[in-house]
Formats: sequence, structure tokens, C-alpha cells
Amino acid sequence: MTCEDARRLLDAHVDRELDVATDRELTRHLSECERCAREVESIRALKKALSEGARVRAPQALRRRIVDALGSSPVVDRARAARAVRWLPRSSAIAIPAAIAALLAFLLIPRMFRIDQGDFLVREVVAAHVRSTQVDHLTDVASSDRHTVKPWFEGKIDFTPPVTDFQARTFKLVGGRVDYLDDRPVAALVYQHGPHLINVFVWPSDGSERGPTRLTRNGYNLEHFSHAGMNYWIVSDMGVDEMEKLAALLRS
Ligand SMILES: [Zn+2]
Repeated sequence: MTCEDARRLLDAHVDRELDVATDRELTRHLSECERCAREVESIRALKKALSEGARVRAPQALRRRIVDALGSSPVVDRARAARAVRWLPRSSAIAIPAAIAALLAFLLIPRMFRIDQGDFLVREVVAAHVRSTQVDHLTDVASSDRHTVKPWFEGKIDFTPPVTDFQARTFKLVGGRVDYLDDRPVAALVYQHGPHLINVFVWPSDGSERGPTRLTRNGYNLEHFSHAGMNYWIVSDMGVDEMEKLAALLRS
């Protein structure tokens, strides 16, 4: 028996699931091979640790709290979090410490990283909006004519943003400018709705359809979605209902 053969059988050997002949052959290999023998000891130790901890299961309340904590972030897929947490009590061999360690390794750490990234982008979007309304740099091209605004972007950024005026629907195109978000130049389309100024930041997405995700930050409402190959971030101090109307127009 080779080490490779042996490795495949070690788990079953520890669980006493091998037939007598195979087990005898494996035992002979283990008596001659220190590496495989050590591997068996590791498997035994791991199984023992897990079964001792298995007396403490994840209570329903804990699961709910984990899912809620994950779900309260706009960039965490709540359904995915629920799926990941559901297996905590289902697996009889896995204790809370092991389950939480696994959860941290497979779910929380990459997710936390993404939450940080998402939060950073949200701050950038709000800051860009505030900057544009405060330092008199709302537009580089001031026009309600999309046939003026759209070509203006040519040569300034490496994509063509969709530009539409929704004046008939009370969202008047005011103009556009190039801004810088998410480590890249983006198109900022500026709309006016009553007294409210709106920045719509647009740049190419990875092609997947996402969102809409809505959130409020520093008194501003934000809505984010990816549609038809573009990422959209809408930011304004107008109400959520108005925000959704504009988002629907941009998606249509
Ligand atoms: Zn071996």
C-alpha cells in the first residue's frame, strides 16, 4: 500500500469503517510509515476536539443575531448569510467554537473586507456630492441637452455613459463632469429636481445586474445598482421616494 492509498483510507480507519482485510493492510502501512501514523494521530485529535465541543450547539437566538448583524449591511447578501449560518446546528460534529471559526474563515473575513470597501465607496460618493455642491464645481459641461453632454465625455473618460434628460418627469438634466471614485475616473451626471441637486455617478460594471441598494449617510440618500453594464450611484438630499423614481427612470 502506498502513502497515497493510505491517506484516502485514514478517516474511515479512525471511524472503524474499513473492512477487516483493508484495515489490516492499512495498519501494517501505519506501523512502517511514520508520516501516515502522525496523520492518523492528527485526525483522532481533531475528531476528539470536535466531539467534545459538540455538546454546545448554536442556539436559535445566536443564529438570528449573526444573520441580523450580517444582514444589516447593505453589501452583505442576507440570504447567503442565512444559508451559511443554518448549518451551525445541523452538523452534529461541529461545535460552536469550530463553527464560528469556520464562519469567520469562510464568511466574515472576506465579507468584512468587502464591507470596508463598500463603506469607503459610500463615503467617497457622499464626499463627491457635497464637494460638487459646495465648491461651485457642479458641472464641467452645463447643458440640459443630452446631445451636448454625452459627446462632451468623449476623450475624457474611456467609456460612454448613458445620458438622458428626464425633464418631462421633473428630473432635469443640468450637466455633467468627470469625477474620481473607486480608483477611477467616473461620469457624474447632474440632475435637478425641485430645489434638490442630484449627482448620478456612472462607470462600467463587471456586467452583472445588482441592486438596487438604498442607504442613508450624513443626511443624504443614496441608491446603488448595476444595470446594462454600468454601475450607478445616485446621491441627493431629496426623499427616498423621489430617489426611487429617478432610479427607475435610469434603469428603464
Ligand atoms: Zn505512508
